[in-house]
Amino acid sequence: MGYRPAMADKPKGRGLGTLLVHAGERAVALRARPTVTPIYGTSTYLYPTAKELDQAFADGNQPVYSRHGNPTLDQLEGALSAVEAGKGAVAYGSGMAAIYAAILAAGTPKGESVPAVRRILAANDLYGATLRLLDEQFRAQGAEVKFTDVCDLDRVQCDLESLRPEVVFFEQISNPCLRIVDVETVVRLAHAVGARVVVDNTFATPILERPLGLGADLVVHSATKFIAGHGDVTAGAVVARTSMVLDVLRHQARLLGAILGPFEASLVARGLKTLELRIQRQCFNAAALAGWLSEQPKIARVLYPGLESHPQHLLAKERFGGLFGALVAVELDVTGREQIFRFLDALGLVLPATTLGDIYTLITAPFISSHRELSSEQRRELGISDSLLRFSVGIEELSDIQNDLAQALKAISGTHT
Ligand code: PLP
Repeated sequence: MGYRPAMADKPKGRGLGTLLVHAGERAVALRARPTVTPIYGTSTYLYPTAKELDQAFADGNQPVYSRHGNPTLDQLEGALSAVEAGKGAVAYGSGMAAIYAAILAAGTPKGESVPAVRRILAANDLYGATLRLLDEQFRAQGAEVKFTDVCDLDRVQCDLESLRPEVVFFEQISNPCLRIVDVETVVRLAHAVGARVVVDNTFATPILERPLGLGADLVVHSATKFIAGHGDVTAGAVVARTSMVLDVLRHQARLLGAILGPFEASLVARGLKTLELRIQRQCFNAAALAGWLSEQPKIARVLYPGLESHPQHLLAKERFGGLFGALVAVELDVTGREQIFRFLDALGLVLPATTLGDIYTLITAPFISSHRELSSEQRRELGISDSLLRFSVGIEELSDIQNDLAQALKAISGTHT
């Protein structure tokens, strides 16, 4: 079969210490193919001859070393690229690693492989750690980073013309205020000044929107969230629209080495298979819950793209194929952290956990979690009050979610506002 023979085949003459290391290894060369890509828990690969190994290095298409390529990871990257309609993808150990890699690749001049990110125009309404990455890493390394309201297209145009950035970065649906960006128009404006556009599609997922089809250059995911969907893995991914940017991304990934391990890749790949089913059910539950919450006592405001009161409702209706996402933000009609904490502690089914996109219904208070590190002044500017809560609606029975919320709202309804 061309594989190096298994030690199990010829154990004679080898010492026990050698047998413990090699016996039984490399024995299986199946004619049958497994239906699911196995977890290739190997860091390196053997070729029958040194010439073939040399050839594999030269081609770059066969695995030689798992930082450069691993079949389990290749399967996931191929699947992510297909569902985001890109030229290829690279998976990372977390969404943050993916964001960092995407900005570096987007800021690498054409025909070069060394990043030169000097000017970034970014949305001001972003996941807290992304805001900090832009500020504490890119800005601190000398890049000019301007935060803007990407929903205000006139403002975006002015900022693009005055800053002339290499990179524009935003979330398709923002965390936590669920604002929606007109990707097509921002891409057109950004490309007119030569900027590449990176879209964090974590909240929308490719089920609601595929930004590469609208001209975005790179799409980023925290695959920890909806893509994997079960709360059991941390991962990230970047999908590129063109081969040129993909080559840069892959080259830099091999050097920076922030790759995803095969065990995690396999979990993410399994999650991806049910993404559409989960999203449909989660969006259905979220839409019903948003309407129900709007009528509950102690709820001051509900933010959900499916509600007519949402500022970008029409854009969401036009773009997202009748779905409006699985995230719902609400402002409780209370003052003071104690009442927010009392509400969170009263929940039974709904889990107050710091993530989103799982099959479980989750709730988080951004002021103590995702946007904790911002000053209260910054949070106020972004509309993140201490009474803002973000639900990530799961696939449970809607009535059970509602009953749990109803009893938790009751627990705070006798308290002073
Ligand atoms: N992007 C968004 C929109 C997020 O909400 C998060 C995390 O919550 C990230 C990126 C970072 O992802 P990770 O936690 O996988 O690094």
